[in-house]
Amino acid sequence: MKNKRIAILGAGGLGACTALELAQRGYSIDLYEKHSEPIRKASFVNEGKIHLGFIYALDKDLYTARQMIIGAVHFISNLKRWISIKPEEVISTPFYYCNHRGSLSKGDELGAHYQKCAEIFDEVSQHYDKKYLDFEETIFSKRLSQSEMEGMVNPEYFQDVFQTNEYSVEPRIVASLLTEALLEEPKIRLHVHTTVQKVERNGTSIRVHFEEGESLRQEEYDEVINCTWNSLLRIDQTMGIEPLYNWSFRYKYGNKILIPFGNEDFPSCTMVQGPYGDCVNFRDRGGFFSWYPIGRTGWSEGKNPPDWDQMYSQEERFDIFKRSFEELKKRVPALRELHYPSEKVDPAGGIIFALGNTDVDNSSSKLHTRHEVGIRSFDGYHSVNTGKYTLIPLLALQLANRIDGRPEMNEKSTGIHYHSNL
Ligand SMILES: Cc1cc2nc3c(=O)[nH]c(=O)nc-3n(C[C@H](O)[C@H](O)[C@H](O)COP(=O)(O)OP(=O)(O)OC[C@H]3O[C@@H](n4cnc5c(N)ncnc54)[C@H](O)[C@@H]3O)c2cc1C
Repeated sequence: MKNKRIAILGAGGLGACTALELAQRGYSIDLYEKHSEPIRKASFVNEGKIHLGFIYALDKDLYTARQMIIGAVHFISNLKRWISIKPEEVISTPFYYCNHRGSLSKGDELGAHYQKCAEIFDEVSQHYDKKYLDFEETIFSKRLSQSEMEGMVNPEYFQDVFQTNEYSVEPRIVASLLTEALLEEPKIRLHVHTTVQKVERNGTSIRVHFEEGESLRQEEYDEVINCTWNSLLRIDQTMGIEPLYNWSFRYKYGNKILIPFGNEDFPSCTMVQGPYGDCVNFRDRGGFFSWYPIGRTGWSEGKNPPDWDQMYSQEERFDIFKRSFEELKKRVPALRELHYPSEKVDPAGGIIFALGNTDVDNSSSKLHTRHEVGIRSFDGYHSVNTGKYTLIPLLALQLANRIDGRPEMNEKSTGIHYHSNL
């Protein structure tokens, strides 16, 4: 029934991809967005790492790694359904994984975990007949020798470094390509500056209440998809839906320096099993820099997190960038040589929503596992915890299949285990 009335709440990465897929299948969509433009929140400010499970070394059953790998092999190939994208033009340099001294895991344990990720990758990649980012047929990790490691990072801080072929995809380019596609698609009506307040059942329909400018309005739909990320729980609550577990919202800075860098200017590094830190070299697209102990400025266990985007002055944001960058410079000496004008720094923050309410420095924190994410459907109302940027194109297709009544990928049809809500 292509005349179903469908509303998508939130024009972030997930809302945009889902709308584009449903429009391609012949459905008309109302896409509601609170902000003045689509894809300007988490799916814009994030680091764009297309996870291969390496970071989830503390998730011993490997569900999270497997799920990320399934998302990763679909990432570019699904995006190509909606936009024209060449992976080689949007990826970072490959990541080095840097294991802190006094780490939560020993180097050998990490090496064994990365090897298991590579094995899962082979299985998943064969199963779906897909490559990582459409070009890598295998994934690898190689432990650097002491002298190689010392040439790259400050050994006072790290005990091991692993070279990998994991990458980030520059999220701002993806956002601008998706935005163009949204605006060109006649079947999608994008309502910006429109805040969804409440959703309720009305007989066989689902009624969405929203604030558009000064006025309060409502519309009726057959299917409603909640892709609002930071408002997910608040809107679900108006439908009487509770989260599966404890949760937390965090505000984290994803600082960018928007000048071109050469491949050799600095390595892309992820600092793991201790205080998280990242520097990502996007070459001619700039660099991303985050140091979690300073850049994670907000924490909330309420259903409606504070409006952190509005809470920091430009001066405070710049200070967070500067202090984070100083910490990264201590650890990655090449960063000390970078010169950039301060007006090219964009210290943007974004919200991370996750099940679990203890932070990453706790080795049993649920934040080390992310497989309990995905779609929960309640008779025409679909609530989606995206989990990670990596999973967006996969989830968008799964949502469209669910609306369209097509068979879904699940444990039975794929032979691959993942959570029943995904
Ligand atoms: C700093 C940072 C780094 C990250 N790094 C990575 C990474 O490297 N790799 C990775 O896989 N993931 C990463 N993530 C997580 C990733 O960004 C998110 O999982 C993903 O982008 C969420 O996508 P989304 O479309 O669900 O949410 P969003 O992109 O936030 O979209 C939600 C949209 O809903 C709108 N909205 C909210 N409330 C309402 C309302 N009431 N009415 C109407 N519209 C509303 C918002 O304005 C927004 O446009 C990172 C996140 C952050 C913040």
